[in-house]
Amino acid sequence: MKLTDSIKSDKPTISFEIFPPKQSENLGSVLDAAEEIAALKPSYISITYGAGGAGSRFTADLTRQLHEDTGVQVLAHLTCVTSTRGKVKEMLETYKDYGIRNILALRGDIPEDGHVENDYRHADELVSEIKDFGDFCVGGACYPEGHIECAHKADDIYHLKTKVDAGCDFLTTQMFFDNNIFYNFLYRAKDVGIDVPIVPGIMPITTAKQLGRSVAMSGTNVPERFRAIVDHFGEDPEAMKQAGIVYASEQIIDLIANGIRHIHVYSMNKPEVAAEIMQNLSHIIDTE
Ligand SMILES: Cc1cc2nc3c(=O)[nH]c(=O)nc-3n(C[C@H](O)[C@H](O)[C@H](O)COP(=O)(O)OP(=O)(O)OC[C@H]3O[C@@H](n4cnc5c(N)ncnc54)[C@H](O)[C@@H]3O)c2cc1C
Repeated sequence: MKLTDSIKSDKPTISFEIFPPKQSENLGSVLDAAEEIAALKPSYISITYGAGGAGSRFTADLTRQLHEDTGVQVLAHLTCVTSTRGKVKEMLETYKDYGIRNILALRGDIPEDGHVENDYRHADELVSEIKDFGDFCVGGACYPEGHIECAHKADDIYHLKTKVDAGCDFLTTQMFFDNNIFYNFLYRAKDVGIDVPIVPGIMPITTAKQLGRSVAMSGTNVPERFRAIVDHFGEDPEAMKQAGIVYASEQIIDLIANGIRHIHVYSMNKPEVAAEIMQNLSHIIDTE
């Protein structure tokens, strides 16, 4: 089944994201965590892609295993900047063989040593290549506050339009902590003619360290209200975890109250965080 069917559903739905292990010996424990998340009956689970190296293999293995064991819909991420066209084709053949039909097509971050393969410069090239390959539902990433490398939001959204025109069926946003930024982004996207579903991505922040790391990587704005929470509870792990989950749950409730139907949650490999979010939404999200 293609994800666009569940993203366009009339009733509110939630999906979760996980990441594959770096070493094969940890595949089992990540799969266990993923299966616990699948038991919460999300509309799908997305699996990130470690650029290059063995990590990329684990995304495919984990995606297949999770799908086979639980029947949950899966969305496999695929990055291209450290790949060649040959490697991408190989991955697409693998997903086709595995019966995986949903791919989030990404450029990927430029590695710290600056080395990139020359086949791809931007994600739009990967999007159109996957579309040409065949029967895949393809998503792309988007950035309500602008991508960190792009100095002007107007340029970024223009590039996003190019990516959508290359064949994106839907978009998923980078995390944000202020829903007004997302609502404003929806208007700007509509203004340039982007008409595919835009799925908001919400990250439950459960430690002060996680916030620092996420903000450094993404440049996401931290509103005063959330900063006060982290300042107050940051030294108390259990309190910070609870407050971060409640904050993310409130963001989700506000999004649903404002007409958004599908929300993606970056709970990563933490089934207990995903479970608490579902518990907080138990009368709002119908998983039957
Ligand atoms: C939902 C989501 C999931 C992610 N999953 C992963 C993952 O699994 N693995 C991983 O390694 N990373 C992942 N990332 C991070 C992502 O790879 C980085 O943010 C990366 O820096 C940009 O990827 P992109 O696909 O958005 O790139 P692009 O769409 O190519 O954009 C990158 C930059 O190039 C500019 N640009 C785009 N097209 C053009 C063009 N035609 N001409 C000139 N400039 C252009 C854009 O404005 C932007 O500044 C994810 C991000 C998000 C939001």
